[in-house]
Amino acid sequence: MVAERVVLVINSGSSTLKYQLVEPDSGISRAAGVIDQIGEQSSVADHDAALRMAFARLTEAGLDPSSVAPAAVGHRVVHGGNDFYRPTLVDDALLAKLRELSPLAPLHNPPAILGIEVARTLLPDIPHVAVFDTAFFHDLPATAATYAIDRRLAQTWHIRRYGFHGISHQYVSQQAAAFVGRPVEDLNQIVLHLGNGASASAVLGGRPIETSMGLTPMEGLVMGTRSGDVDPGVISYLWRAAKMSVDDIESMLNHCSGVFGLSGERDFRRLHDLIESGDVAAQLAYDVFIHRLRKYIGAYVAVLQRTDVLSFTAGIGENDVAVRRDALTGLSALGIELDERRNADPHPGVRRISADSSPTTVLVVPTNEELAIARDCVQLI
Ligand code: AMP
Repeated sequence: MVAERVVLVINSGSSTLKYQLVEPDSGISRAAGVIDQIGEQSSVADHDAALRMAFARLTEAGLDPSSVAPAAVGHRVVHGGNDFYRPTLVDDALLAKLRELSPLAPLHNPPAILGIEVARTLLPDIPHVAVFDTAFFHDLPATAATYAIDRRLAQTWHIRRYGFHGISHQYVSQQAAAFVGRPVEDLNQIVLHLGNGASASAVLGGRPIETSMGLTPMEGLVMGTRSGDVDPGVISYLWRAAKMSVDDIESMLNHCSGVFGLSGERDFRRLHDLIESGDVAAQLAYDVFIHRLRKYIGAYVAVLQRTDVLSFTAGIGENDVAVRRDALTGLSALGIELDERRNADPHPGVRRISADSSPTTVLVVPTNEELAIARDCVQLI
């Protein structure tokens, strides 16, 4: 029997490191884990310590990364800028370019670079591949990618709408097409990735034509702790009137806004408990989240003109029956009819939750970014 090849996928965030050993062909996950609170008090000191801890856990599970000899190590990199939109073999030159891109994604790219550096020292003889979360949206039509600001300034500073969660939007749109049994090229789709970060995309024939995140992952939908769309005037107003620094404003919009900023709770399971108990702030946070989501759905139906499939994915999209119901209630005029019973069925895996009469097929599609990254890696090498 030939042993299945495996890929080690690493996703380094600012304070978390997720790892997974996955078989790209079968899709089977051999081992997965998260190390969190990196750099926080009385916890894992840094990314070096975190990755060594991940390796120790894999070894304990009988999957020592050096003896398992993965075909590749795949690294999720949030921002690829304009230059990186294909899975790319990591070398010193790539790392240098990624460092240059860090000002575009100061919260996300530096930890990914650290993760790559440490992983390369631990597994020096295995190809390392960077897979970019912006890649899927690289060819967004100019009408969707362009901010209506001074064009010379935008050009000088590479300001455009890049889009994020691309690994997930691409994977989910392909899974959805496979489920309905039609080529992705024939389908107009809306994908709603609703997790701690949240984004929507409109995908025409397999290629995205709109997405809700922009230069950074802050634009668009209301998220766990991120504001999504705000009037840019809020920033200059806080700077002038509240004398907040740019860093403080950015941190507030990223970490103390969204559902958390409005209610003090970012996890939707507990948000529902608070609403049950009569918490008015939690109710408003939920309502603002749903309102923004419905605005985007309406906009994307208009952009696509015909919507064949609408898919929910990620932690909230896959699990939260109420969010799916409240997002789509009353949209039969747009061709979207939910089946309440199917929506409430917790069956795992890809499933249809629209009524048979619904012109738009509504699906729940579990995302699997690690598998998508692993498949990108083996395709490259
Ligand atoms: P993700 O970023 O995709 O891992 O999603 C994480 C978020 O999904 C959590 O913060 C929760 O808000 C939400 N979530 C996870 N499980 C559930 C569930 N069973 N019901 C509602 N929301 C959930």
